[in-house]
Amino acid sequence: MPIFVCSKCHCLENTACCEFWCRDREKNPPLCSECDPEIGKWHGSFPKTPYDPKIHKVEWLPRELRATSPQRKKERYLEEYP
Ligand SMILES: [Zn+2]
Repeated sequence: MPIFVCSKCHCLENTACCEFWCRDREKNPPLCSECDPEIGKWHGSFPKTPYDPKIHKVEWLPRELRATSPQRKKERYLEEYP
């Protein structure tokens, strides 16, 4: 299951643990379960971890983090978001 970086708090999140695909369909930037106002709390399936580009490989990064990413080609999701 793809890992992405929350566009608000920049922590790692799994697409299966939050409303990632619902938000994608509605063209909203992806948020972790804690930042999503419709969920509002961390799911607890794994510890909340801040994204570190030197350690983590993710499927999607917020635009503001992409310039520093060593793995730009993998970032294919949600390119249209500001
Ligand atoms: Zn978040």
